[in-house]
Amino acid sequence: MSGGELAASIRAETAALAAELTVAGRTPTLAVVTATADEASAWYVRSLSRTAAKVGIACDVTDLGPASPSRPESPDAAVESIRVELIALSENPLVHGIVLQTPLPGGARLAELAGLIDPAKDVDGANPTSLGRLMTGLPTFAPATAAAVLALLDRYEVALSGRRAVVVGRSAVVGKPVAQLLLARDATVTVCHSRTVDLAAVTSTAEVLVVAAGRAGLVGASFVAAGAVVVDVGTNAVAGGGLAGDVDPAVAEVAGALSPVPGGVGPVTTALLLRHVVEAATAVPVLPAAPRRACCGRRRSGRPSGRRRDAGRRR
Ligand code: NAP
Repeated sequence: MSGGELAASIRAETAALAAELTVAGRTPTLAVVTATADEASAWYVRSLSRTAAKVGIACDVTDLGPASPSRPESPDAAVESIRVELIALSENPLVHGIVLQTPLPGGARLAELAGLIDPAKDVDGANPTSLGRLMTGLPTFAPATAAAVLALLDRYEVALSGRRAVVVGRSAVVGKPVAQLLLARDATVTVCHSRTVDLAAVTSTAEVLVVAAGRAGLVGASFVAAGAVVVDVGTNAVAGGGLAGDVDPAVAEVAGALSPVPGGVGPVTTALLLRHVVEAATAVPVLPAAPRRACCGRRRSGRPSGRRRDAGRRR
Protein backbone atom coordinates (compact mmCIF):
# COMPACT_ATOMS: atom_id res chain seq x y z
CA MET A 1 0.00 0.00 0.00
CA SER A 2 2.17 2.79 -1.29
CA GLY A 3 1.35 6.30 -0.10
CA GLY A 4 2.96 8.06 -3.05
CA GLU A 5 -0.03 8.40 -5.35
CA LEU A 6 -2.42 9.31 -2.57
CA ALA A 7 0.00 11.94 -1.26
CA ALA A 8 0.41 13.40 -4.75
CA SER A 9 -3.34 13.73 -5.22
CA ILE A 10 -3.76 15.39 -1.80
CA ARG A 11 -0.89 17.77 -2.61
CA ALA A 12 -2.48 18.67 -5.96
CA GLU A 13 -5.82 19.50 -4.30
CA THR A 14 -4.01 21.45 -1.59
CA ALA A 15 -1.97 23.43 -4.12
CA ALA A 16 -5.13 24.43 -6.00
CA LEU A 17 -6.81 25.64 -2.79
CA ALA A 18 -3.62 27.41 -1.64
CA ALA A 19 -3.42 29.24 -4.97
CA GLU A 20 -7.02 30.45 -4.60
CA LEU A 21 -6.32 31.69 -1.08
CA THR A 22 -3.13 33.43 -2.16
CA VAL A 23 -4.92 35.20 -5.01
CA ALA A 24 -7.46 36.34 -2.42
CA GLY A 25 -4.58 37.87 -0.40
CA ARG A 26 -4.31 35.16 2.21
CA THR A 27 -1.25 32.98 1.65
CA PRO A 28 -1.77 29.92 3.85
CA THR A 29 0.98 29.95 6.44
CA LEU A 30 2.36 27.22 8.66
CA ALA A 31 4.57 28.03 11.66
CA VAL A 32 6.85 25.27 12.91
CA VAL A 33 8.58 25.57 16.28
CA THR A 34 11.64 23.42 16.92
CA ALA A 35 13.54 23.38 20.19
CA THR A 36 16.21 20.69 20.04
CA ALA A 37 19.08 19.76 17.73
CA ASP A 38 17.52 16.38 16.94
CA GLU A 39 18.71 15.43 13.47
CA ALA A 40 15.68 13.29 12.51
CA SER A 41 13.39 16.15 13.47
CA ALA A 42 15.51 18.64 11.51
CA TRP A 43 15.36 16.36 8.47
CA TYR A 44 11.57 16.16 8.74
CA VAL A 45 11.21 19.94 9.07
CA ARG A 46 13.40 20.54 6.00
CA SER A 47 11.32 18.05 4.03
CA LEU A 48 8.06 19.63 5.29
CA SER A 49 9.31 23.12 4.33
CA ARG A 50 10.22 21.95 0.81
CA THR A 51 6.86 20.28 0.29
CA ALA A 52 5.03 23.34 1.66
CA ALA A 53 6.85 25.56 -0.83
CA LYS A 54 5.84 23.24 -3.67
CA VAL A 55 2.14 23.52 -2.82
CA GLY A 56 2.25 27.28 -2.19
CA ILE A 57 2.13 27.28 1.59
CA ALA A 58 4.46 29.62 3.46
CA CYS A 59 6.40 27.81 6.15
CA ASP A 60 8.07 29.80 8.92
CA VAL A 61 10.40 27.78 11.12
CA THR A 62 11.29 29.19 14.52
CA ASP A 63 14.41 27.48 15.81
CA LEU A 64 14.73 27.65 19.59
CA GLY A 65 17.36 24.89 19.58
CA PRO A 66 20.76 24.94 21.25
CA ALA A 67 22.46 26.47 18.20
CA SER A 68 20.11 29.45 18.17
CA PRO A 69 21.84 32.68 19.30
CA SER A 70 18.82 33.65 21.37
CA ARG A 71 18.44 30.25 23.03
CA PRO A 72 17.95 30.77 26.78
CA GLU A 73 20.55 29.26 29.09
CA SER A 74 18.44 27.16 31.45
CA PRO A 75 16.02 24.37 30.47
CA ASP A 76 13.21 26.20 32.28
CA ALA A 77 13.88 29.35 30.27
CA ALA A 78 13.96 27.27 27.08
CA VAL A 79 10.51 25.90 27.85
CA GLU A 80 9.33 29.42 28.68
CA SER A 81 10.56 30.62 25.29
CA ILE A 82 8.46 27.90 23.62
CA ARG A 83 5.43 29.07 25.60
CA VAL A 84 5.98 32.68 24.55
CA GLU A 85 6.37 31.67 20.92
CA LEU A 86 3.25 29.47 20.85
CA ILE A 87 1.13 32.20 22.44
CA ALA A 88 2.42 34.78 19.95
CA LEU A 89 1.78 32.48 16.99
CA SER A 90 -1.70 31.63 18.24
CA GLU A 91 -2.52 35.34 18.43
CA ASN A 92 -1.02 36.16 15.04
CA PRO A 93 -3.81 36.32 12.43
CA LEU A 94 -1.27 35.86 9.62
CA VAL A 95 -0.43 32.35 10.88
CA HIS A 96 -2.98 29.64 10.06
CA GLY A 97 -1.30 26.47 11.31
CA ILE A 98 1.13 25.76 14.14
CA VAL A 99 3.25 22.66 14.72
CA LEU A 100 5.39 22.15 17.80
CA GLN A 101 8.05 19.73 16.68
CA THR A 102 9.19 16.91 18.99
CA PRO A 103 11.45 15.99 20.71
CA LEU A 104 11.20 18.78 23.24
CA PRO A 105 13.90 19.98 25.65
CA GLY A 106 14.21 17.80 28.76
CA GLY A 107 11.32 18.11 31.15
CA ALA A 108 8.91 19.66 28.66
CA ARG A 109 5.64 17.83 28.01
CA LEU A 110 4.04 18.06 24.59
CA ALA A 111 0.50 17.91 25.97
CA GLU A 112 1.12 20.89 28.27
CA LEU A 113 2.84 23.08 25.70
CA ALA A 114 0.50 22.11 22.85
CA GLY A 115 -2.36 23.30 25.03
CA LEU A 116 -1.14 26.81 24.17
CA ILE A 117 -1.80 26.29 20.46
CA ASP A 118 -5.08 27.82 19.33
CA PRO A 119 -7.18 24.70 18.45
CA ALA A 120 -8.23 26.43 15.21
CA LYS A 121 -4.54 26.42 14.19
CA ASP A 122 -3.68 23.04 15.71
CA VAL A 123 -3.12 21.38 12.34
CA ASP A 124 -1.35 18.37 13.87
CA GLY A 125 -4.00 17.76 16.51
CA ALA A 126 -1.62 18.02 19.47
CA ASN A 127 -3.65 20.26 21.79
CA PRO A 128 -5.52 18.16 24.38
CA THR A 129 -8.64 20.06 23.34
CA SER A 130 -8.24 18.75 19.79
CA LEU A 131 -7.71 15.22 21.09
CA GLY A 132 -10.77 15.53 23.31
CA ARG A 133 -12.84 16.72 20.37
CA LEU A 134 -11.55 13.77 18.33
CA MET A 135 -12.57 11.39 21.08
CA THR A 136 -16.05 12.86 21.36
CA GLY A 137 -16.64 13.00 17.62
CA LEU A 138 -16.57 16.80 17.30
CA PRO A 139 -14.98 18.47 14.26
CA THR A 140 -11.25 18.97 14.79
CA PHE A 141 -7.87 18.41 13.18
CA ALA A 142 -6.78 14.83 13.88
CA PRO A 143 -3.04 14.26 14.27
CA ALA A 144 -1.81 14.09 10.68
CA THR A 145 -0.15 10.68 11.03
CA ALA A 146 -3.28 9.12 12.46
CA ALA A 147 -5.36 10.70 9.70
CA ALA A 148 -2.82 9.39 7.16
CA VAL A 149 -3.28 5.80 8.37
CA LEU A 150 -7.03 6.06 7.81
CA ALA A 151 -6.57 7.81 4.46
CA LEU A 152 -4.28 5.00 3.29
CA LEU A 153 -6.75 2.33 4.40
CA ASP A 154 -9.53 4.18 2.59
CA ARG A 155 -7.45 4.60 -0.55
CA TYR A 156 -7.02 0.83 -0.72
CA GLU A 157 -10.70 0.32 0.13
CA VAL A 158 -10.00 -1.65 3.28
CA ALA A 159 -13.29 -2.37 5.04
CA LEU A 160 -13.21 -1.38 8.70
CA SER A 161 -16.72 -1.72 10.08
CA GLY A 162 -16.99 -4.73 12.34
CA ARG A 163 -13.43 -5.86 11.69
CA ARG A 164 -10.84 -6.73 14.32
CA ALA A 165 -8.18 -4.01 14.39
CA VAL A 166 -5.04 -4.05 16.54
CA VAL A 167 -2.90 -0.95 17.11
CA VAL A 168 0.63 -1.40 18.49
CA GLY A 169 1.59 1.81 20.31
CA ARG A 170 -0.40 4.14 22.55
CA SER A 171 1.21 7.54 22.11
CA ALA A 172 -1.02 10.60 21.99
CA VAL A 173 0.53 11.44 18.60
CA VAL A 174 -0.14 8.16 16.79
CA GLY A 175 -1.41 5.08 18.64
CA LYS A 176 -4.32 6.54 20.60
CA PRO A 177 -5.70 8.76 17.83
CA VAL A 178 -5.40 5.91 15.29
CA ALA A 179 -7.34 3.66 17.69
CA GLN A 180 -9.95 6.39 18.09
CA LEU A 181 -10.33 6.90 14.35
CA LEU A 182 -10.67 3.14 13.79
CA LEU A 183 -13.27 2.98 16.55
CA ALA A 184 -15.16 5.85 14.92
CA ARG A 185 -15.28 3.68 11.79
CA ASP A 186 -16.84 0.82 13.75
CA ALA A 187 -13.78 -1.43 13.94
CA THR A 188 -13.32 -3.49 17.10
CA VAL A 189 -10.05 -2.11 18.39
CA THR A 190 -7.35 -3.51 20.68
CA VAL A 191 -4.41 -1.30 21.67
CA CYS A 192 -1.04 -2.88 22.57
CA HIS A 193 1.98 -1.31 24.26
CA SER A 194 5.30 -2.19 25.83
CA ARG A 195 3.65 -4.06 28.72
CA THR A 196 1.38 -6.16 26.52
CA VAL A 197 1.93 -9.82 27.31
CA ASP A 198 2.54 -12.02 24.25
CA LEU A 199 2.28 -9.31 21.63
CA ALA A 200 2.30 -11.83 18.77
CA ALA A 201 -0.77 -13.59 20.19
CA VAL A 202 -2.70 -10.31 20.13
CA THR A 203 -1.46 -8.98 16.79
CA SER A 204 -2.19 -12.27 15.08
CA THR A 205 -5.90 -11.78 15.86
CA ALA A 206 -5.94 -8.63 13.71
CA GLU A 207 -7.63 -8.31 10.37
CA VAL A 208 -6.23 -4.77 10.28
CA LEU A 209 -2.92 -4.21 12.08
CA VAL A 210 -1.38 -0.75 12.62
CA VAL A 211 2.12 -0.69 14.08
CA ALA A 212 3.50 2.51 15.63
CA ALA A 213 6.05 1.44 18.23
CA GLY A 214 9.30 2.93 16.98
CA ARG A 215 11.08 -0.47 17.16
CA ALA A 216 12.63 -1.58 13.89
CA GLY A 217 11.41 -5.01 12.81
CA LEU A 218 9.31 -5.53 15.96
CA VAL A 219 6.52 -7.27 14.07
CA GLY A 220 7.67 -10.37 12.25
CA ALA A 221 5.79 -12.77 10.00
CA SER A 222 4.71 -14.91 12.97
CA PHE A 223 2.87 -11.85 14.42
CA VAL A 224 0.52 -11.52 11.44
CA ALA A 225 -2.51 -13.54 10.36
CA ALA A 226 -2.61 -14.66 6.75
CA GLY A 227 -4.30 -12.02 4.62
CA ALA A 228 -4.25 -9.27 7.27
CA VAL A 229 -3.86 -5.65 6.20
CA VAL A 230 -0.76 -4.16 7.87
CA VAL A 231 0.06 -0.44 8.14
CA ASP A 232 3.61 0.28 9.26
CA VAL A 233 3.92 3.73 10.83
CA GLY A 234 7.39 3.21 12.28
CA THR A 235 10.31 5.24 11.00
CA ASN A 236 13.58 4.04 12.47
CA ALA A 237 16.95 5.40 11.39
CA VAL A 238 19.18 2.66 10.01
CA ALA A 239 22.94 2.69 10.60
CA GLY A 240 24.52 3.91 7.39
CA GLY A 241 21.45 5.90 6.38
CA GLY A 242 17.87 5.18 5.39
CA LEU A 243 14.73 4.27 7.27
CA ALA A 244 13.31 1.00 8.51
CA GLY A 245 9.75 0.35 9.61
CA ASP A 246 8.50 -1.47 12.70
CA VAL A 247 7.37 -4.35 10.49
CA ASP A 248 9.80 -6.91 9.15
CA PRO A 249 9.66 -6.91 5.32
CA ALA A 250 9.08 -10.72 5.50
CA VAL A 251 5.53 -9.89 6.65
CA ALA A 252 4.74 -9.11 3.00
CA GLU A 253 4.70 -12.85 2.33
CA VAL A 254 1.94 -13.42 4.90
CA ALA A 255 -0.10 -10.20 4.85
CA GLY A 256 -2.81 -9.38 2.34
CA ALA A 257 -1.38 -5.86 2.09
CA LEU A 258 1.50 -3.98 3.71
CA SER A 259 2.48 -0.31 3.62
CA PRO A 260 6.16 0.28 2.82
CA VAL A 261 8.69 2.32 4.82
CA PRO A 262 9.67 4.71 3.43
CA GLY A 263 6.91 5.62 0.98
CA GLY A 264 3.81 4.54 2.91
CA VAL A 265 2.33 6.59 5.74
CA GLY A 266 5.09 9.25 5.72
CA PRO A 267 4.28 11.16 2.50
CA VAL A 268 0.55 11.01 3.23
CA THR A 269 1.18 12.50 6.69
CA THR A 270 3.00 15.49 5.22
CA ALA A 271 0.37 15.98 2.53
CA LEU A 272 -2.48 15.88 5.06
CA LEU A 273 -0.71 18.24 7.46
CA LEU A 274 -0.45 20.79 4.65
CA ARG A 275 -4.05 20.24 3.65
CA HIS A 276 -4.99 20.98 7.27
CA VAL A 277 -3.13 24.32 6.96
CA VAL A 278 -5.20 25.23 3.91
CA GLU A 279 -8.39 24.17 5.69
CA ALA A 280 -7.41 26.32 8.69
CA ALA A 281 -6.69 29.28 6.39
CA THR A 282 -9.99 28.77 4.60
CA ALA A 283 -11.90 28.89 7.87
CA VAL A 284 -10.45 32.26 8.88
CA PRO A 285 -12.69 35.30 8.30
CA VAL A 286 -11.30 37.49 5.53
CA LEU A 287 -8.68 39.95 6.77
CA PRO A 288 -7.36 43.02 4.99
CA ALA A 289 -4.58 41.94 2.60
CA ALA A 290 -1.15 42.21 4.17
CA PRO A 291 2.28 41.92 2.57
CA ARG A 292 3.37 38.28 2.81
CA ARG A 293 6.36 36.18 1.95
CA ALA A 294 5.56 33.76 -0.84
CA CYS A 295 7.51 30.72 0.28
CA CYS A 296 9.34 28.98 3.05
CA GLY A 297 11.85 30.69 5.30
CA ARG A 298 13.80 29.70 8.37
CA ARG A 299 14.17 31.98 11.33
CA ARG A 300 16.58 31.39 14.19
CA SER A 301 15.17 33.39 17.04
CA GLY A 302 13.50 32.98 20.39
CA ARG A 303 11.30 36.01 19.84
CA PRO A 304 8.31 36.60 17.62
CA SER A 305 9.30 38.78 14.68
CA GLY A 306 8.27 42.43 14.56
CA ARG A 307 5.75 41.57 11.87
CA ARG A 308 4.20 39.03 14.15
CA ARG A 309 4.22 41.21 17.24
CA ASP A 310 2.53 43.99 15.31
CA ALA A 311 -0.02 41.64 13.81
CA GLY A 312 -1.62 40.36 16.97
CA ARG A 313 -5.39 40.29 16.86
CA ARG A 314 -6.96 37.08 18.11
CA ARG A 315 -9.68 35.56 16.06
P1 NAP B 1 6.40 6.81 21.07
O1 NAP B 1 5.81 8.03 21.65
O2 NAP B 1 7.78 6.39 21.46
O3 NAP B 1 5.40 5.59 21.41
C1 NAP B 1 5.74 4.29 21.08
C2 NAP B 1 4.65 3.38 21.57
O4 NAP B 1 5.02 2.05 21.22
C3 NAP B 1 4.45 3.41 23.08
O5 NAP B 1 3.08 3.37 23.37
C4 NAP B 1 5.15 2.14 23.56
O6 NAP B 1 4.56 1.56 24.70
C5 NAP B 1 4.96 1.22 22.37
N1 NAP B 1 6.01 0.23 22.31
C6 NAP B 1 7.35 0.43 22.36
N2 NAP B 1 8.00 -0.75 22.32
C7 NAP B 1 7.05 -1.71 22.26
C8 NAP B 1 7.11 -3.11 22.19
N3 NAP B 1 8.27 -3.80 22.21
N4 NAP B 1 5.96 -3.78 22.15
C9 NAP B 1 4.77 -3.14 22.12
N5 NAP B 1 4.65 -1.79 22.16
C10 NAP B 1 5.80 -1.09 22.24
O7 NAP B 1 6.42 6.86 19.48
P2 NAP B 1 5.39 7.58 18.47
O8 NAP B 1 5.62 9.03 18.46
O9 NAP B 1 4.02 7.07 18.69
O10 NAP B 1 5.94 7.02 17.07
C11 NAP B 1 5.91 5.64 16.81
C12 NAP B 1 6.68 5.39 15.52
O11 NAP B 1 6.02 6.06 14.46
C13 NAP B 1 8.11 5.92 15.53
O12 NAP B 1 8.92 5.07 14.76
C14 NAP B 1 7.98 7.26 14.84
O13 NAP B 1 9.19 7.66 14.22
C15 NAP B 1 6.93 6.92 13.80
N6 NAP B 1 6.21 8.07 13.30
C16 NAP B 1 6.04 8.14 11.96
C17 NAP B 1 5.34 9.19 11.43
C18 NAP B 1 5.12 9.25 9.96
O14 NAP B 1 4.62 10.23 9.44
N7 NAP B 1 5.44 8.20 9.22
C19 NAP B 1 4.83 10.20 12.26
C20 NAP B 1 4.98 10.08 13.64
C21 NAP B 1 5.67 9.00 14.16
P3 NAP B 1 4.52 2.29 26.14
O15 NAP B 1 3.43 3.32 26.03
O16 NAP B 1 4.20 1.21 27.08
O17 NAP B 1 5.87 2.90 26.33
